[in-house]
Amino acid sequence: MAKVDLDDVTKRFGSGGDGVVAVDDVSLEIEDGEFVVFVGPSGSGKSTLLRIVAGLEKQTEGDVVIGDTVVNELGPRARDIAMVFQNYALYPNMTVEENMAFGLKMSTDMSDDEIETRVTETAEKMGIGRLLDNTPGEMSGGQQQRVALGRAIVRNPDVFLMDEPLSNLDAKLRTEMRTEINRLQNELDVTTLYVTHDQTEAMTMGDRLVVLNYGELQQVGTPLECFYRPANRFVAGFLGSPSMNFFEGQTEGGTLRLDGFDFDLTQEMQSAVGSRNEFVLGIRPEDAKIHETTRPSHELEAEVDVVEPMGSISYVYLRATEQEGDRTFIVETDGQRAIDEGQTVYVEIPDDDVHLFDAE
Ligand code: ADP
Repeated sequence: MAKVDLDDVTKRFGSGGDGVVAVDDVSLEIEDGEFVVFVGPSGSGKSTLLRIVAGLEKQTEGDVVIGDTVVNELGPRARDIAMVFQNYALYPNMTVEENMAFGLKMSTDMSDDEIETRVTETAEKMGIGRLLDNTPGEMSGGQQQRVALGRAIVRNPDVFLMDEPLSNLDAKLRTEMRTEINRLQNELDVTTLYVTHDQTEAMTMGDRLVVLNYGELQQVGTPLECFYRPANRFVAGFLGSPSMNFFEGQTEGGTLRLDGFDFDLTQEMQSAVGSRNEFVLGIRPEDAKIHETTRPSHELEAEVDVVEPMGSISYVYLRATEQEGDRTFIVETDGQRAIDEGQTVYVEIPDDDVHLFDAE
């Protein structure tokens, strides 16, 4: 087991005007045994960062430290890591047993008997004990991914690196494997770096989240910190589904004048705002409330555009009556509540649940 430190890591592909900064000056300390999830949209630099830790890609600047060793000059085999990929990357002509034993044969001096015992035990733990003689072509995607995980675990590495390992699986299996990986990580307590673009995986899997955009760290924190106290508008919009609603506006004294309504800033907000005056107010769909009659505070008159029933909840797409343009925003309500399309409603935006961001 080992800690992983990234010190001012930058990766540029190409040079000059055509160059891309895939990872932009990232510094991060990952503790021994920690489970860290890297999340961000496609192209935000997640895979490149993981590949740099793996030694599959060389950073342009900065240091990577695994345990107490600066590994900048070490190739993947010389780093004590095991990687699990989206496409499983199993050897198609080898059986499960051979696939799992391969890394051990290449990188340790264990005897064949020891290897066989360890492979069998790990296969049992992963629920693939009866598949040991099968080849990858004879197995489902879920089974193949279990084998890929088993192959990583059997090597007992210092660090696990997982790059979107669940994205080829169907929704039900994905949920199942998510729980399985959480359980294994808890049990094995191995430092794990996990890459995903899926915000459900991000919220449910790691001890800490690292949110990336354009190769830059946006926020590092527990999933709940990132969700409830997003560092900026990007993080706020990325975590949560449907996304947070945003309203742009200017402050005037203690009031934020937004497109279509005014919002009275609390004392606390006013001190946070200081002398700046361009702001974005964010409210999650589950935090706003719909009323059928007017209410005294922070209300926004709106017309119901579409109601999307989801079972226990519904998403109500609203169009602010006095708002210019035809931007809609979303409020979550109880699924049993009768709300008609075309109906006029009044939206309450509770003080405690809003987020204020600097305008970009
Ligand atoms: P993510 O994993 O978040 O989808 P990547 O790390 O794959 O993002 O890519 C980050 C950026 O680096 C993207 O703009 C991508 O096009 C670019 N990139 C990644 N690999 C290469 C490469 N081998 N050559 C050139 N550009 C690359």
